[in-house]
Amino acid sequence: MAKGTIKVTTENIFPIIKKFLYSDHEIFLRELIANATDATKKLKAFSSMGDFKGDIGDDTIEIVLDKEAKTLTVKDRGIGMSKDDVEKYINQIAFSGAEEFVDKFKDQEDAAGIIGKFGLGFYSAYMVADKVQIKTKSFKDEQAVIWECDGSPEFTLEDHDKADRGTEIVLHISEDSTEFLEEARINTLLNKYCKFMPVAIKFGKKSEWIDNAAGKKDKDGKVEKEEIKVDNIVNNPSPAWTKSPSSLSDEDYTGFYKELYPMNFEDPLFNIHLNVDYPFNLTGILYFPKISANMEVQKDKIQLFSKQVFITDSVEGIVPDFLTLLHGVIDSPDIPLNVSRSYLQADGAVKKIASHISKKVSDKLEELFKKDRADFEAKWDDIKIFIEYGILSDEKFAERAKKFTLYKTTEGKYYTMDELTEKITPAQKDKDDKLVYIYTNDAEAQHSFINAATTKGYEVLLMDTHLTSHLVGKLEQTLENTTWTRVDADTIDKLIDKDEKIPSKLDEKQQETLKPVIEEVVEKAKFTVQFESMSETDQPMTIVQPEFMRRMKEMQAVGGGGMAMFGGAMPDTYNLVVNTNHPLISKILNEKDKAKQTEITKRTTDLALLSQNMLKGEELTKFINQSIELI
Ligand code: ADP
Repeated sequence: MAKGTIKVTTENIFPIIKKFLYSDHEIFLRELIANATDATKKLKAFSSMGDFKGDIGDDTIEIVLDKEAKTLTVKDRGIGMSKDDVEKYINQIAFSGAEEFVDKFKDQEDAAGIIGKFGLGFYSAYMVADKVQIKTKSFKDEQAVIWECDGSPEFTLEDHDKADRGTEIVLHISEDSTEFLEEARINTLLNKYCKFMPVAIKFGKKSEWIDNAAGKKDKDGKVEKEEIKVDNIVNNPSPAWTKSPSSLSDEDYTGFYKELYPMNFEDPLFNIHLNVDYPFNLTGILYFPKISANMEVQKDKIQLFSKQVFITDSVEGIVPDFLTLLHGVIDSPDIPLNVSRSYLQADGAVKKIASHISKKVSDKLEELFKKDRADFEAKWDDIKIFIEYGILSDEKFAERAKKFTLYKTTEGKYYTMDELTEKITPAQKDKDDKLVYIYTNDAEAQHSFINAATTKGYEVLLMDTHLTSHLVGKLEQTLENTTWTRVDADTIDKLIDKDEKIPSKLDEKQQETLKPVIEEVVEKAKFTVQFESMSETDQPMTIVQPEFMRRMKEMQAVGGGGMAMFGGAMPDTYNLVVNTNHPLISKILNEKDKAKQTEITKRTTDLALLSQNMLKGEELTKFINQSIELI
């Protein structure tokens, strides 16, 4: 029997491993199974190269839980290790690797966060075990050995009677880690980390119901089912992303989506299969999920793998931010994982990966748009939030997105920007030759304004996501000589000011007389009374919120700079526009009885408020009661 001491330079690393990895200690299982998988894959490679002539046989990796003995065992039928291999790979290489790792990260505040994203290999077993045994026999048919170490720097290494090829790692679970003796806990871990590892992994048995062997039938003549126990294989060793796109049908992609998200009941809209081998290695499938515009969007649904080993589902910094709204998997051995987040974001390879993914996504969208526009339009409402987010956050994407970004009108038509511009140019230029784009963010609430605009032959765009104000700002900046205005920002004649004058029935003097009468019945701080000579058939009074006022408010709401001078929330202010040509307004002016004049004025302003859904509380009750009396 050989005895020895593992070389320890400064201090014993075992307590450090335990302490620093506490929050993420569950990754030990991933590490051990990943090693078992590697050993199995190596054997297959040796076999195909002719370096191993024996029979591979069943190469399933097996996880065995023994509650009585308090052990958890990972068994593989891979290449195994000879005595020399154990000396070299476990006592020297693996140990110094773990030591270096611990040394590097033990003083870092975010150690747990970083370490959790990748493993420190075999020695992570000591996060949960106080004694570990390795029973192993090399494929070269050498003497089997058993290595044992109880977490002190001393180990033993001696011959063993293990008969078959491969490695068994036996963890003697420590008192403070007994959760890893629970079947349910192990199942959860296998499902999280090993679901797509490339070699079959078995954990116990499961029930399956099949036709009974004797062919017995029930009273309805159906063959009765009987329960049988079969191996519980926890993983899918060849997930869809590892296959070639041409071998996969739509059903395969949807099926894989369900495999990834068993709790998501909605099918994805479409997918993008990523397949790159130069200048970096990357495969994966990204799905556009079905979500509605303002629903709380779920981030962190993309899972990151390195050669089918699950690493993390927080892909921030690797995938462009707007694409973190997508679902799916990305697999790349080229993403450096043993580094901090900020390093990752600055990493050149990662940047290339991010821009490649962004390009792939826009290519796919363009392809879908060109291939079947009607279908693309049907999907638009579900995907617009991704695209808007992308346009706002990724300049290159914004450029490419011009080809397929759609603008939907209140009448349900979809235009690209080029089509839209062409369509509205004849009717929507103002007196300064500026093209005016009109939009609504709430077709219900702004119905009367929309109605007036469409009657005039204007197109009103439906822009109702929470990114609308940012997007409008950006469009105004990029499209030369244009303005964007919300449909309720002004009265219909002023919305696009064409300098067409309708003669006014009231002269300036009369307007001055009328002004205080109206101001008397409304909140002065909130409403600015203005006069406009409109058509007789337009409303007597209209309440509008000028575009620039509303945008200032919106900017303040999202924390725009320079708003501090208002101290606290900016008040909402509106224009109360009085139609000087409406008979009711002349009636108010000509009313000699002061009490009566006030009453008519109040009713008229109330009506304007009501149509804007701004008449509330006591005022509303009063208005209703008075109306009932009148009837
Ligand atoms: P890494 O896997 O990153 O190389 P580990 O500490 O996990 O580091 O393992 C060190 C080495 O021990 C491996 O490279 C491998 O040579 C050997 N090893 C570990 N587990 C097994 C196993 N199940 N079968 C054969 N060799 C193994």
